[in-house]
Amino acid sequence: MPLIVQKFGGSSVGNIERIIHVAERIRQLSESGSNVVVVVSAMGGETDRLLGLARGIQSTPHPRELDVLLSTGEQVTIALLAMRLHAIGCPARSYTGSQVHIRTDSAHTKARIVSVEDRRIREDLQAGRVVVVAGFQGIDESGNITTLGRGGSDTTAVALAAALEADECRIYTDVDGVYTTDPRVEPQARLLDFLTFEEMLELASLGAKVLQIRSVEFARKYGVILRVLSSFNEGPGTLIGPESEDMDMEQPLISGIAFERDAAKITVLGVQDKPGIAFSILGPIADENIEVDMIVQNTGVDGTTDFTFTVNRNDFERTLQITRERKIQWGASSIIGDNKIAKISLVGVGMRSHAGIASRMFKALAAENINILMISTSEIKVSVVVEEKYLELGVRTLHSEFDLDRDDTKRDDSEAR
Ligand code: ASP
Ligand code: MG
Repeated sequence: MPLIVQKFGGSSVGNIERIIHVAERIRQLSESGSNVVVVVSAMGGETDRLLGLARGIQSTPHPRELDVLLSTGEQVTIALLAMRLHAIGCPARSYTGSQVHIRTDSAHTKARIVSVEDRRIREDLQAGRVVVVAGFQGIDESGNITTLGRGGSDTTAVALAAALEADECRIYTDVDGVYTTDPRVEPQARLLDFLTFEEMLELASLGAKVLQIRSVEFARKYGVILRVLSSFNEGPGTLIGPESEDMDMEQPLISGIAFERDAAKITVLGVQDKPGIAFSILGPIADENIEVDMIVQNTGVDGTTDFTFTVNRNDFERTLQITRERKIQWGASSIIGDNKIAKISLVGVGMRSHAGIASRMFKALAAENINILMISTSEIKVSVVVEEKYLELGVRTLHSEFDLDRDDTKRDDSEAR
């Protein structure tokens, strides 16, 4: 019998009607002859509501107690869903993360899963029951409740799928799957049939918000086949799996375009070009837990050089302050900042075997008079930083330049696997 893990996100279980609807889908799958394990998020908005309560007590809530609080959101959903399953004649049992021994490390609010015990779940499945597990939570070695970071239910689902060697892990959400880019920016965006783990990882870390990045890393590591699909509409969604050797002929050059609107950059001008300078600039920023994204150091002229890096816009003011305080210490001539920039990235495993993607990208942007401020590349991605006002135009230009709106670039599911 196939074993399927189904995960329903907050919007899919956002109210009683939706929970009733989700229960019906689960019952159908179960009655069609599959073993079903369900992972659910808290009802939409609930985690934020709980966070708000905690912040009303303490501006930086105590992490251990915050996890005790946040984990209650998912506990509500598992109980309601299991009740509904009982009501429609589908035997089910709900479990919190600790009840099925989802063991994590002790990093409260961002814990990592260490192991999952599958015994209890298998017993239930054997007895013909659907198992409903609370996402986003676990328990550490000392029995403390932990949570896995925002969006962590995706990771719970993948971890269970890996432990149970499930045939597929289906992530139900409020969109039909993964698109070539955000349809709100490019209405021509097309639903993708297939993406490799690497492409999904790049897209997720470059701003696409469909899946928690950690869940994709987990899926890649354990070879869990993922499918992202809508809980509201019918449709096959997007399959995410390993790259296969015979993919070369089928695959499009570019699979998707990701973007990040809320970037900012800081340039330190005229610093001494000597060993240790990158560390002395970026060290204090890392010490403040500010994440630096792109980094560019110019070729030095006359013993000095310029150094530019990007951060999230939320961290802009603080980063500017840190750099200004150190300007004299670094011997920098000046520091300039710009918080009206955005990053656009092309992603595709097809890039590995085709040269010239980057130049084609630059040419298309130039034709629209879009100035590129920074560039960075990796094996399967090219990113550019542009002025924020050009973000939409840039995305649309590249979407049509690389024929992402055309259906003939489609990869066939069965062959891609
Ligand atoms: N409820 C948690 C959140 O909102 C976890 C999840 O939904 O995946 O982040
Ligand atoms: Mg989510």
